[in-house]
Amino acid sequence: MFEQSIATLAKKLRNKDISSVELTRLFLARIAKLDPQLNSFITVSEQRALEQAAVADTLLQSGKGTSLTGIPVAHKDLFCTEGTLTTCGSKMLHNFIPPYESTVTSRIQQAGAVMLGKTNMDEFAMGSSNENSFYGAVKNPWNLDMVPGGSSGGSAAAVAAGLAVAATGTDTGGSIRQPASFCGITGLKPTYGRVSRFGMIAYASSLDQGGPMAKSAEDCAHLMQAMAGFDEKDSTSADKPTDDYLANLSAPLTGLKIGLPKEYFGNGLDPKVADVIMSAVKEFEELGATVKEISLPNLQLSIPSYYVIAPSEASSNLSRFDGVRFGHRCDNPQDLLDMYMRSRAEGFGTEVQKRIMVGTYALSEGYYDAYYLKAQKIRRLIKEDFVKALEEVDVIMGPVAPTTAFGLGSKTNDPVAMYLEDIYTLSVNLAGIPAMSVPAGFADGMPVGLQIMGNYFAEAKLLNVAHQYQQHTDWHLQTPNMAKGA
Ligand code: GLN
Repeated sequence: MFEQSIATLAKKLRNKDISSVELTRLFLARIAKLDPQLNSFITVSEQRALEQAAVADTLLQSGKGTSLTGIPVAHKDLFCTEGTLTTCGSKMLHNFIPPYESTVTSRIQQAGAVMLGKTNMDEFAMGSSNENSFYGAVKNPWNLDMVPGGSSGGSAAAVAAGLAVAATGTDTGGSIRQPASFCGITGLKPTYGRVSRFGMIAYASSLDQGGPMAKSAEDCAHLMQAMAGFDEKDSTSADKPTDDYLANLSAPLTGLKIGLPKEYFGNGLDPKVADVIMSAVKEFEELGATVKEISLPNLQLSIPSYYVIAPSEASSNLSRFDGVRFGHRCDNPQDLLDMYMRSRAEGFGTEVQKRIMVGTYALSEGYYDAYYLKAQKIRRLIKEDFVKALEEVDVIMGPVAPTTAFGLGSKTNDPVAMYLEDIYTLSVNLAGIPAMSVPAGFADGMPVGLQIMGNYFAEAKLLNVAHQYQQHTDWHLQTPNMAKGA
């Protein structure tokens, strides 16, 4: 049951082969049994889940609801959920119970889905391995000694292990795609502005974007039907009608033009990962696509420019955590300044503190032009590379990450090696275009994700391309051993 698609489960719920309460209990039992090994949840909201499931069952009884009605899902713990603890993976918010609901979680709830709980993540979404969480590292279900990727590693591990049918994630520089790749699931980072950021705890506001993480492109499409769309509560939300993400999934790929950026296949890419990606590309040729080499010449500059822009925005966003209104406050402050300083020193972990310092420096007078402004200029060049390439091709393909999942602890003392993991994902956020990670095979027993990038608001196209691939391959149907037989 835990391996089935949203469409199949929705049919079973409608035919009364199973009730949502039964399905929810099944997933809660799997979480209780398997999550002690993975640590993918920070909070399991059992009571809320069972109440929502009962409501869903009543709706289903009367033949109402959507394809998500009664389906158990999980949310990354940076989406504010009214009345349910929302920590953002940080000690700073260890006691934060939001008085309001994020637009994403509220829309998914309105569509009738059941919230099983809140998933573990790198603190304030800063990381590529999920080792920066105050709640401890998450383990990869394919190999418990490996990282699940970050920062949405809890969501990825939970879906891969069948602890939730689907989940939400957020992607500022790769945090949906890279953990999806490392855990062998499907993830979509939509166009900036397509999914509302209201109620998402901000990391870098000009880059952050929420999206679906699920087993298949079709399941992601079901979630997008609920999540996407204009929201007047988010000033950067795109006031543009959404597509029907399910309508064109089956369109044939004949004549699809695929671009392969030569910079994505250079030094640093694990040859075994490259082999998997090239076999996937061959599969697309068999489905009628044509392939051509393209160039994204400023790719190398994406790391330095992202690691100036993201910390700059973070330093500003995180200034609201001062111990006054919400979150952690130090004991016995001597005066106001002491309260600010100790609350922040105690509440934030090392990576977050490091980025606040880098960002504050880059934004300070005398350095702003040299760092922040320069990084923004590079960002424009990166965007123009994509715009130019996408005039020639329909989609761009390449790896999501240079390697498969790496060992827990193996990169924690080497920030440069850790930041290099993001080389193929950051530029997409800097440009604001949508991109997916799709399971495409294995290297040394660990999953490899194919990245598919597209033009602004081409989510429906990306889902169609990924779905067609998944109709002809079964990489997305593989289940890690630890998840079987439970
Ligand atoms: N790894 C990147 C970072 O640490 C991206 C994280 C993200 O997308 N939230 O900033």
